[in-house]
This record gives sequence, structure tokens and C-alpha cells, in this order.
Amino acid sequence: MEVKIGDLEVAFSDGVLAIMDQHAQVKSSAPEQGGILLGRAYKNRFVVEKISTPTELDKCSRYNFERHRLSAQMVINYEFFNSNGQVMYLGEWHTHPEDNPTPSGVDLKMIKSQLAKNKIDVPYLLLVIKGRKTTYIGLQTSKELFSITF
Ligand SMILES: [Zn+2]
Repeated sequence: MEVKIGDLEVAFSDGVLAIMDQHAQVKSSAPEQGGILLGRAYKNRFVVEKISTPTELDKCSRYNFERHRLSAQMVINYEFFNSNGQVMYLGEWHTHPEDNPTPSGVDLKMIKSQLAKNKIDVPYLLLVIKGRKTTYIGLQTSKELFSITF
């Protein structure tokens, strides 16, 4: 699947979409889940090829997902090294227990601070929120947040 947000084309592999679908919070008791997005970055195009899923170190509850910094960094380093620096951190994803998700204040702060401290030279980061019916995709740049829902 491919979408356009701002000036950026974003492609998601089928595998990535399937994993997010499996984690959608359809059951009323399910906790929020999430992880990081990994893939290749070109000038005006991101290709999201892999995502991480919750580890035992992450804290999940019905209305919150807080991923563990260290476990995510290990995944990022591993993928970067094993792809000769081609596969890199492209952003964050998590689920929301609502049909049509919108980012919370915490989500917006988080993606901004991730972009600010991102050491690899990617000028944008993605914020994907998988709802029960639709999916929100935000593109955080240094100046603004573009978004689409599909
Ligand atoms: Zn959220």
C-alpha cells in the first residue's frame, strides 16, 4: 500500500500491514500495542519494510503504550548493521482503542522529541496509529505535522 503525505510517498509492505491488523484493539480488554517502524529512506519516499512488536520490557495498558528505549534501540542497531546501513528507524506505531484514531498529546510530544534526538539523517518521522476501523498516519517534520487517515 502506498500513500502520499505532504511531499513524501510512503509505502508499507503487506507484511507490515498484516502485523498491525493482528494487533488492532478489537477486543474490549486488549491493551495498546506498538513498536517502531523500520525501512529505507529515499529523497521523497519512505518504504516501511519491518515493524517491531511489543517486548516484555514494554509497558502496555488499555490506554497507553510505552516502549522500552533499550529494546527498540537494539532492534534499530541490528537492522542497520545487517542491511549495511540501508534499513533505518522511520518512526513509531501503536494501536488505539477507538474506531478512528487521533494522536494524544503524549503521542505528539513523543514523535517530536524522537525527531529531535534522531541521530540518523532522516528529516521526517512517521507516527502510525492503528485504530479499530481506520489508521492514522502522521508525518512529523521539523516544522509541522502532516496527516492522513485511511
Ligand atoms: Zn496514542
